[in-house]
Amino acid sequence: MSPPAGGRRVHQVRRDLLFAAVRDAGRISRADLVRRTGMARMTVNGLVAELVAAGLLAEEEAVPDGTRAGRPARSVTVAAAAGGVVGAVVEADGVHVVTVDLAGRPRAERHLRVDTADPQVVLDAIAEFVSSAGRVWSTVVGLSAPISGGVVQSSSVLPAWSGIAAAGELRRRLAHRVTVRNDADLCVLGEVRYGVAAGHQHVCHLRVASGIGCGLLLGGVPHTGATGVAGEIGHVQVDETGALCRCGNRGCLETIASPREILAALSATYGEPLTAARAVELARHDATAERVLADAGRMIGRVVADLANTVNPSLVVLDGPLIEPDGPLVHGVRDSLRRYAQPEVAQSTQVRVSALGGRAALLGAVAAALRATPSARGDRAFTRAGAGPVAPFALAPAAVVPAADAPASRDGAAPAAGEGLTSRDGAAPAAGDPPPAGSSAAVAPAAAARRRELSPARRERLVRRDMITDVLRGRGPTARSDIVRLTRLPRAAVVDLLAELCHDGVVEPCPPGASRSGRPSPHFRLAAAAGVLLGLALGPEGVRAVVADGAGRVIDDGFRPLPAGHETLQLMRTAAEFARELMDRHGAHATVAVSVPSPVHPLTGRFGARSVLPMFSGFSPAEEIAAVLGRPVQVHNNAQLCALAEARRGAARGARDVLYLRADQFTGAGIVAGGRMHQGAIGYAGEVGHLNVREIGPLCICGSRGCLSAFLAPAYFGALLERPRLGSLSEDRLVALAVAGDRPARRALVDAGRLIGRTVTPLCDVLNPAVVVVGGRYTEPGAFVVDGVREALHRHCAPSAAAGLTVVPAALGRDAEPLGAIESLL
Ligand SMILES: [Zn+2]
Ligand SMILES: [Zn+2]
Repeated sequence: MSPPAGGRRVHQVRRDLLFAAVRDAGRISRADLVRRTGMARMTVNGLVAELVAAGLLAEEEAVPDGTRAGRPARSVTVAAAAGGVVGAVVEADGVHVVTVDLAGRPRAERHLRVDTADPQVVLDAIAEFVSSAGRVWSTVVGLSAPISGGVVQSSSVLPAWSGIAAAGELRRRLAHRVTVRNDADLCVLGEVRYGVAAGHQHVCHLRVASGIGCGLLLGGVPHTGATGVAGEIGHVQVDETGALCRCGNRGCLETIASPREILAALSATYGEPLTAARAVELARHDATAERVLADAGRMIGRVVADLANTVNPSLVVLDGPLIEPDGPLVHGVRDSLRRYAQPEVAQSTQVRVSALGGRAALLGAVAAALRATPSARGDRAFTRAGAGPVAPFALAPAAVVPAADAPASRDGAAPAAGEGLTSRDGAAPAAGDPPPAGSSAAVAPAAAARRRELSPARRERLVRRDMITDVLRGRGPTARSDIVRLTRLPRAAVVDLLAELCHDGVVEPCPPGASRSGRPSPHFRLAAAAGVLLGLALGPEGVRAVVADGAGRVIDDGFRPLPAGHETLQLMRTAAEFARELMDRHGAHATVAVSVPSPVHPLTGRFGARSVLPMFSGFSPAEEIAAVLGRPVQVHNNAQLCALAEARRGAARGARDVLYLRADQFTGAGIVAGGRMHQGAIGYAGEVGHLNVREIGPLCICGSRGCLSAFLAPAYFGALLERPRLGSLSEDRLVALAVAGDRPARRALVDAGRLIGRTVTPLCDVLNPAVVVVGGRYTEPGAFVVDGVREALHRHCAPSAAAGLTVVPAALGRDAEPLGAIESLL
C-alpha cells in the first residue's frame, strides 16, 4: 500500500493553479505564466507540456509584433477540447439541462421533454445529453426531493423517485463524477454565484411554486439538515384547524399560500381559469387580486419573520411565478417582517426578488458542478492557503450568459444576455487587476482581500505547510524522515518548512518515541496551544468561570455572585476582575471567551442599540472586559454557546445538527449547523424568546405582546397556578414545588414544554436537526418540560422533519455556558 501521495499532490496543486491562471488570462505566454504563478520557468514549461498532452491547454503560434528580435513567444490558451460540466434540473414537465465550459460559459442548453414520473427515462435522457456534450468533468442534477446519502427520499412532488440512488445510477451510465442534490439548495448556490445573494453568508431562498421550499445558506455553507430535509417551510403549520395537506398534517403554509391555492381562489372569484402571469397582471390594477396576493405574502411573511428572528439571515430571496419586484406579494412579506421580527432584525434583513427568471436551481447546479474541475481545484488551492472561511462552491470566476440557442425559460421570460445572469464576481475585480482566482462570492471580503495579496508561490508554500501539519495532526509526534516519506515533499523543503513552522510556534521539536537503531531522525509534533483558555458566563446571579488547558481539559472553575438588581456595568466589571484573578492564578496568557445573555453582534461584540433586553442596549461587553484585561476577548450569546457545548461534550455529542432550547424565564435557543455554531447575520440566531405566541398576550420586557418568554416568566406561572398566597412566584419556588410532587406545578411545566415545542416548530422544520437538547432551570425537577417539548414537536413538525428527531434533556447543567465559551476557542 502506498502512503498518501504528497508529492503528487503538490504537482497536482501546481498543475491546477497553472490551469486556473491560463483560464483567467484567456491567452498568456509562458513568460507571463512564470510571472503570474511565481513558479520556476522549468516547472511552468513542464506543466504546460503535460496539460497540452492531456488536451486541457492548446498552444498558439504568436504573430511577431516586431518589438522583439528572434522567435516570437508562443502563448497558451484553454483547449477547445478541455471540456466542461453539465447542470440539470428535473421539473414537472421534463428536464432542463445546460452544459458550460470550464470558465462557466454556456455551450448548450435544452429542455428535454420526458415523463419525469419514470426515473429511468429521466436518467437515460440526461445520460444521452451528457454523452453528446463532449468531455464532461462533472454532472450535477437537481431534484424536488430530499436527498440523503445520494439516495432520493420520499417526496410528494416526485413520488416514483423515492429510494432511487440517482447519483450512483447516472455515474454508472456516464463514468464521471455525478452528484444529485435538492433543488432548493441549488437555488441558493445559484443566487450566491450568479444572482442577488452574491457576497451574503446567511441566506434564505424561498421558492413559491408548486410547493413552498426554502434553501438555506448558513455561514457560507448550504445547510441540508440531519436527514436532508432542511428547508421544509411549506409544511410549517400556520392553522391548526386548517385544510389537510398532502404531507399528512393540517393547515400547512402550502395549503394557504401556494400559487395553486391562490390561483384556484382567484379563478373562482373571476369565473375564468387564471395563469400566474395573468394573476400578476390583474393585481397591478385590480384591488381584489392585489389583496389576495398581498394576503398570501403576509402569511408567508409571518413564517419568514419567525425565520428572520431565529435563523437571522442577512437576505431573504423570493422566487416564483407570482412574485415580481415591488408586487403585492413581496409587500405582504415585508409587512409581516416589520410587524413580527425584532426591530433590529427587521431593519437588517433584506427581502429581494430573484432575477434569475426561475433558473436559480439550474445555475446552482452549474456552480456546484464546476467545483469538480481542474480550474476549480486550482482556485481552491488559492483559497485554501488564505485565512477565513472558504465557500465550498462558486469557484469559477467567469460569467455565465445564456447560450445563443437557449430556449426561453419555463416561465416564458428568458432574461436578456447579461441581465441577471452575469456573475457578480466576474465584474468585481478592478480594471487592470488580474481577477483573483478564488473570488468566491461567499467569502468575507477581508479574507478574500488577504488572499488576493498572497503571491502564488506563497500560496503553494502554505499548501505545503498544511500538508505537514495534516500529517502531525493525524499521527502525533512524527520523525522528520517519516514526514518526508508521507508528504513526498523534497527533504530540503521539509527541513525548511519545519524550521518555519517551529519559528511560527505551530510545530515544536519533541523527543523521539521508542528509539530504533542508528541515528534517530528529529521528531516533531503540533505545538500545544500556549497558555490557558478562560470561559466566562455572565448571568443574572453572577459570573461563572471555567479554566481549561490548551486542549480544552478543565483545570479550574468558580462562581462569583452578584447582588440582585445589579447594574449591567457592574456585571461586566465583576466579570473582568474575576477573569483577572483567574489569569493571575493560571498564567497571564489566557485566551478569553465570554457568554452573555443577549444577542451580540458576531463581528463587533456589541449589543444592538435596540437590544431585546433594554438594560444591555448599546453596551459592548467585548470592549468593557478587554479594557480591564488588556487583551481582546470574544463574546457570544449564551444559548448559542450551550448548543455548542452540548453538541461537543454533552447530550448531543457527535451530532452535527443540533437545536438547544433553554426552558426557563430567560428562554432562548442555540443552533449548531453542520458541526458549527450558527450566530446569524447580526447575532440573533436562536432568539426564540420573543417569537409571538399569542397576538393578545401578556406584555413582554421587549415591548411586544404575547412573546414566548412572557409565558415562561414566574409571574405568569403564579397567575396560572391561581395561588395568590404564593405571592410573586419565583423560579426557585416553582422548581421546588414540582420537585415536591405538586401536580399543578408539574402540569404547568409540561404545558410550558408544549408551548416551547409548538413555538419552535418552524425552526425544526427549516433546520432539520438530529437532536433537540432541552436545558434551563425548568428541566431540574425532571422530564416534564422535555416531555412537553417532545410531544409538541412530534405533533406539529412536518412529518419528514419529525421522523429523524430525538429530544433529550441537557447534560451539562449550569456549566454549559462557560464550557461552550471554552469550546468556541478550540
Ligand atoms: Zn404539509
Ligand atoms: Zn418579547
